[in-house]
Amino acid sequence: MKKLLLAGGAGFIGSHLVDRLLKRNDLDMLVVVDSLWTGRAENIDHIRDQRLVLVRSEVENFKSDFQFDEIFHLASPASPPVYMREPERTVSANLIGAMRLLKLLKKGGRICFASSSEVYGNPLVNPLPETYRGSVDCTGPRSSYDEGKRCTEALLFESNRVRGVDVRVARIFNVYGPRTRADDGRAVSNFIANALSGKPIVVHGDGLQTRSWGYVDDIVDGLERLFWLENFNHVGAVNVGNDREISVLEIAQYVAGLIPGTTIVHDEPAPQDPTNRRPDLTLCRRILPGWSCKVPYEEGLVRTLRWFEAKGEIGEMRATM
Ligand code: UDP
Repeated sequence: MKKLLLAGGAGFIGSHLVDRLLKRNDLDMLVVVDSLWTGRAENIDHIRDQRLVLVRSEVENFKSDFQFDEIFHLASPASPPVYMREPERTVSANLIGAMRLLKLLKKGGRICFASSSEVYGNPLVNPLPETYRGSVDCTGPRSSYDEGKRCTEALLFESNRVRGVDVRVARIFNVYGPRTRADDGRAVSNFIANALSGKPIVVHGDGLQTRSWGYVDDIVDGLERLFWLENFNHVGAVNVGNDREISVLEIAQYVAGLIPGTTIVHDEPAPQDPTNRRPDLTLCRRILPGWSCKVPYEEGLVRTLRWFEAKGEIGEMRATM
């Protein structure tokens, strides 16, 4: 029986992965380490499973008396306004966090890392294959996240090359869905939160910039398959995302259409906002045959909206406005 560690397990994607991990019957312990910086304990409150232990700690400072068979590193903010406010903490959670986690990995163990499409920066090719080395400004406002992810990838792949560590790296494209914080700051949650509280949706720039929006269940399915896979002999990161590319404005208009009376306004473009982002999924489809994003945004946005409504958090926000 295995001991597993999930850093960032109270977060948006991490908490969905906790649900999946606990369906496995080959573990006797799942330790979730989370600083609750952007994660929330309530994301895993519903779980009644004695194998689950939640430790509130920065991943960099986490201490353990024993080592783990499998480690999942999802401890990082992913919302641009959040990581742009706290760049040092963002680099530290990713990179120093990974250094700490490597020390806690058993010999012969596996480490899985949630990297990001942000490693490609503002891309000059479309779609993006893993072989594209990126167009990142290391002096730019998004650099703590982009370069934090890039350097963490470097550390992990070097650990594979030098010591043979089993390394799995998913480059995750835009994700949305239940358990996003209303104050997360990303497009979908902002649009829904604004519309539900009677405020206009704010689109940065003309809104013609595109993203490939993946519904969280589909993305976590992909992560589960990649991270659990036995006999994995690929060295390198794997794109995990939706390859249906949609403009920000189209998403805004769709959300506005779901909540009558919602208006859309435009403000300044966000600094160094990538103009497009779509994964090339050739490698992913080869490694994970049968996997794809199945939930179209038209359905995923409705499900996300229903979740926000059921939670009632936005109603509370409205009441305090
Ligand atoms: N965006 C927007 N209004 C918002 C939040 C985001 O127009 O309230 C835009 C943002 O400028 C970007 C896209 O939506 O072009 C996706 O932003 P998000 O923060 O969700 O993720 P990113 O892909 O930038 O990491």
